[in-house]
Amino acid sequence: MRLRRQHERIIFRAISANVAISRTQLAELTGLSGQSVGRVARTLLGSGLVEETEIARSKGPGASPIGLRVRPAGAFSLGFGLERDYLSGVALDLGGNIRWQMSRHLAEGETAENTLRLLEQDIRSLLRAPEWSARRDRLCGVGVAAPGPLDVTTRTIVGPPNFPSWEHVDVAKELGRAFDLPVLIDNAATAAAIGIAWRLPHGHRPYLYCYWGIGIGGGLVIGDDVYRGTTGNAIEIGHIVVNPGGRLCECGNVGCLETEASVRALLRDAAPYGRFRTLTEMMTAARTTPEVAALVTSAAEKMAAALVSVLNVVDVDEVVLGGEHLDEVEEVFVPIIRDHIEHRAFRRRIAPTTVSVSDIGEIANAMGAAAMVFHTLLPDGLPVRDRPEAPFG
Ligand SMILES: [Zn+2]
Repeated sequence: MRLRRQHERIIFRAISANVAISRTQLAELTGLSGQSVGRVARTLLGSGLVEETEIARSKGPGASPIGLRVRPAGAFSLGFGLERDYLSGVALDLGGNIRWQMSRHLAEGETAENTLRLLEQDIRSLLRAPEWSARRDRLCGVGVAAPGPLDVTTRTIVGPPNFPSWEHVDVAKELGRAFDLPVLIDNAATAAAIGIAWRLPHGHRPYLYCYWGIGIGGGLVIGDDVYRGTTGNAIEIGHIVVNPGGRLCECGNVGCLETEASVRALLRDAAPYGRFRTLTEMMTAARTTPEVAALVTSAAEKMAAALVSVLNVVDVDEVVLGGEHLDEVEEVFVPIIRDHIEHRAFRRRIAPTTVSVSDIGEIANAMGAAAMVFHTLLPDGLPVRDRPEAPFG
């Protein structure tokens, strides 16, 4: 039974990683026998997670072979991104299409209790809508992306820096109880890194994702997997020391990138030059105040230095930058980061490294949280489809 489940998982992953793939190709790719592939394909077709499709023939006559692909309406998941200043949510179908999305601003210092209550309300009102109540049995779970550190084994947030009142909050237990659905929790930047992978073409290259905002984080994506580390707190780019002897960081270390070059750090350092409540106000001042402009350049240089260091450790061809505030500093940050990577990365004479900016913005974390649900829970855990669903909308 266990082996069969394992085969189902391998085949389902292989189908998900391709636009469409034939049973013969699946057998070649996975090393499983044609008989095993056939049996698993029947199970997956029965569960409604995959469907048959014609594969376009590149040349030659004859009928197109029949392939398998994921069935977008075969499963849905909800994902939420919990940030210090906003909450975002999406419902994804298995084809990676966004079927619903929301975003709400959170007041500075909003309590964990209130935020969870808002989140619960959002899920409840979504599930009450007719198109969702009809699909309740295809909804495989809820994912929540939260700032680290978090304990993935106990599924709790462990009091992240700049995130008061979230000390040891068991989000999964609270939400799981309310909705009788599996609830998964992951590091925000890790989830966002997965979310970006869902928008890239199948078979994309490994990449390093870096989130820039009130906090700074990262994720390393290889194939369709993200590297989590032993405790789920890997690639914490924000806590790389860029200024030994710098300010004390809330993580307990000194001179971390997050405490030297984040939105929060910029606003704090710019305070002597004016009263800036938001990054937008500060960036407007940077156009006319050289001291403020210099702070932005310095933050970009620290980001670049940290990214070169991480790149020297992980050695990938692509760095993807993201975060809902990034577009405000992109013009300054991106050229400096590109320049540093081009001239200082250890691998530069062997292979170039592409630096790109993600276009998903503030829903990246939520998308990643939803994708993580599919990634973790499928293909198990969904009942056999007994009737076709009504079309969406
Ligand atoms: Zn730190």
